[in-house]
Amino acid sequence: MGAIIIDGAAMARQVLDEQKAASGQLAQRGCVPGLAMVLVGDDPASAVYVRGKERACREAGVLSFDARLPAATTTAELLQKIDALNGDARVHGILVQLPLPEHIDAVAVLQRIDPAKDVDGFTWRSLGALLDGHALLAPCTPSGCMLMLERAGVPVAGRHAVVVGRSSIVGKPAALMLLERNATVTICHSHTPELAAVTREADILICAAGKPRMVTADMVKPGAAVIDVGINRLPDGKLCGDVDYDAVSARAGWITPVPGGVGPMTVTMLVHNTVQSAARLAG
Ligand code: NAD
Repeated sequence: MGAIIIDGAAMARQVLDEQKAASGQLAQRGCVPGLAMVLVGDDPASAVYVRGKERACREAGVLSFDARLPAATTTAELLQKIDALNGDARVHGILVQLPLPEHIDAVAVLQRIDPAKDVDGFTWRSLGALLDGHALLAPCTPSGCMLMLERAGVPVAGRHAVVVGRSSIVGKPAALMLLERNATVTICHSHTPELAAVTREADILICAAGKPRMVTADMVKPGAAVIDVGINRLPDGKLCGDVDYDAVSARAGWITPVPGGVGPMTVTMLVHNTVQSAARLAG
């Protein structure tokens, strides 16, 4: 029997509708949730991502504030912009689209965001709070993965979860969230020997390595839930995940497609975090 496909696009639509209802209620109390999107330079891929986020905001009744700056913007100028957004009462969330141009100190910029408006969950304050189980705003991609598991009815408590990838924006926070839900968690990375032997033990396998189709069917336990975070561009221009989808879906219990899986959920969680942040800031 084939795996249950967790349809991220449909789930994202549903969550966006829920956020629309929540933002409508906030608007009735005089607070329209607002998200500022800071985009420096004219990287075409970043512009596409920002447009997608703007569209999701519109659909959920969230105002988006377009903060586009020229590629020559200095770190000091960008910090000033962040300070202005931190102090702007119409703005409940601040997103800095990555990557920033190389001459900009990205760490300084991200850490300048007011943690109360840190809807990407990348500040050290937000990540530290997540570590201690008190996250106000958690990173969107792993939050989307967790919601997918929850809504698909995948049991987490007491199960063995394996996360492939240890970045601060996906792998590490995903591992913390799984731990918070009482999974037994293993984190793998590029120095892990015998990766397949570890992934084969996983009841839940989260793949975030950025390596096209590296997870093959023989690396997956029959019946496992496989969440594919990877987004890779193939030479023919098509997108694929980190998982060999066709072969693995014949073996797994649940699987997320690429595209149409974690990607749409990530955007939706950004809107979700903005609405949450607005509700908190509105008191
Ligand atoms: P990253 O490059 O920062 O981290 C990759 C991690 O994978 C590293 O920890 C590395 O050690 C590990 N890794 C690399 N090769 C490996 C291998 N052969 N075996 C085991 N581990 C290996 O990447 P990231 O920012 O965490 O993103 C990972 C992937 O997820 C990328 O494809 C990225 O495009 C995608 N992504 C998708 C979304 C989404 O919304 N769907 C969001 C963020 C990132």
